[in-house]
Formats: sequence, C-alpha cells, structure tokens
Amino acid sequence: MIKTYETPSSISSYAYCSRLGGLDKLYSFGGSKSVATVIGNLEHAAFQEYYKMFNLDCKNIQSENFYNEEQHQIRTDKVIEYVSEFFPNLYPSYYQHILDEIPSVRYRLDLHYKQKIEEIKKYLNSSNSTPGKAVSMALPFEIEKKLGAYGIFGRVDCMYWGADGKSIIPEDLKSHATRFDSLIHQESHKIQLVTYAVLIEFLYKAPVREARIFYTKDLTYETFKITKKDKVEVLEMKDRLQTILNEGLPPVIEDPIKCKHCYKQNLCKEIADRGIVDPTEYIPLEGEEDDI
Ligand code: SF4
Repeated sequence: MIKTYETPSSISSYAYCSRLGGLDKLYSFGGSKSVATVIGNLEHAAFQEYYKMFNLDCKNIQSENFYNEEQHQIRTDKVIEYVSEFFPNLYPSYYQHILDEIPSVRYRLDLHYKQKIEEIKKYLNSSNSTPGKAVSMALPFEIEKKLGAYGIFGRVDCMYWGADGKSIIPEDLKSHATRFDSLIHQESHKIQLVTYAVLIEFLYKAPVREARIFYTKDLTYETFKITKKDKVEVLEMKDRLQTILNEGLPPVIEDPIKCKHCYKQNLCKEIADRGIVDPTEYIPLEGEEDDI
C-alpha cells in the first residue's frame, strides 16, 4: 500500500530525482541489504551508543575533568562488544564483513573521543560556558528521536543545543564510502536536514538555523545554514511529492552520473526496460515464467 505520509528520506529522494521520489513510494522496501548498508548501520549504532555512554559519564563526573582515558576505554570496549555480538546475529551472512570492520570502528571511536574532548574544551574556554553547557553542545541530548508534523514522520540521528542554549542543531550520520558520493548527494542531504528542522521547530518550539552531517568514515562534518525560505520550500516539495504518481511515474532523467550513484538504479532500469509508466503495474519476480 502506498503510504499517505512522507519522510525526510522520501523528500530527500524526490529532491535528488523526481522519478526516485515516485519509486520510493511504490517500492519503499529497498530489497536485500548490501554490505555497505549493514556496515553503515553498524557505524550508526557504534557512534550513537558511544555518545549515550559519554553523556552519562559526563553527567556523573560533575567537574571539568572530562578527559579520562580509562573511562573512554571502558565505553569503547562496551560499544565494540555490543556491535560484535548484535550485528553478526542480525546479519549472519555478513559475519566476516562485520568482524573485519571492528578494528577500524575502534580506531575511529578513539579519534572521535579526542575530537569531542577538544570541542568541550573549546566551548569551556569561550565566555559564559559551564561544563554542563559545553557538554550539551558537544554531545547530543537526543538520539534517534522520532518526529512528526505536517504529514511527515521521521527519526533524526542526533540533536544538539546551539551556542545560544535555545536553538537546536540536528545531525545526520552518513557512511558514504567516497567523498564524491557525498558530494553528488549534497543537495538532497540538505533537503533531508531542512525537513528535520521543520519537524523539530514544530515539536520543540525552538529555532533551527543550521544542521550538519557527520561522516562516520572519516570523522568530518558538513554544516548547512537553514533559512526560512528553505523550510517553506521543503514543505512545498512535500506537497508536490504527495501527488507525484497522479500522472504516472516520472521519466528517467538524462543524468548518467546521478543515475550511477542512485540507490534504486537497478529497479529504475528494470521498470524503464519494461516500459512501465502505470504506477500500479505488476512486476513479476525475477525468473518467474509468464502464464500462458
Ligand atoms: S536511476 Fe536515475 S532516473 Fe532512475 S531514479 Fe535514479 S536518478 Fe532517477
């Protein structure tokens, strides 16, 4: 059944390509998991679990002594133990890929801890900053928060307080394997973040003027400024997306680079080869014989 609501991802897909927006409506299930998706999920879980424990430890410390290598090692061991047990159980066919990834995840958690410590120190050195405030800016106060408004439902990876203590900064974790892959999706990433901004403002009654992506592969950030115009445009986009299938599935775009980096390129090609434009036309399973 075609869902009647939109998500930040569906609006982001539509911004990437209108046909992809239509395909997402018809085939929201992306098929079997790829190695990249499984490893991406593992990275998400590892960083988010680490944040939760780091936040708790900071609250318990009640001092400015956030730099505690021993505590960091305890947290990291717990995270590694969790992902090493949970993910092979969930995706047994990717067992070896998961185990191969673990040393690199540990390496990145070590580096990211140092990044976060530097960030907390920087906030502490700035005027009017208390340890609690510095931590609330450097570590997320919400993780995997469900949001809903305007007929859009989504879940934002992380939410941080801004420097003014009133604004909120949403953050999405991405595990793109290459910088070019993140570059070609840059515009649609921004649309996804703007959608979170609209939902957060509605729910928290707090302004969102910027949002960012944290790239888990190389621990870099990409920050986007968000204006009122951006927010209005994203809701207009959502309205257009809701009626996108009324005229049939949009045609294939003339952009081979975008298509090459599209996560539904195989499905899109299969549908195009069959000449399907009617949104509800039946697509037989692979290898299924035609009835005589
Ligand atoms: S493969 Fe190309 S035309 Fe098809 S949905 Fe993706 S970007 Fe759009």
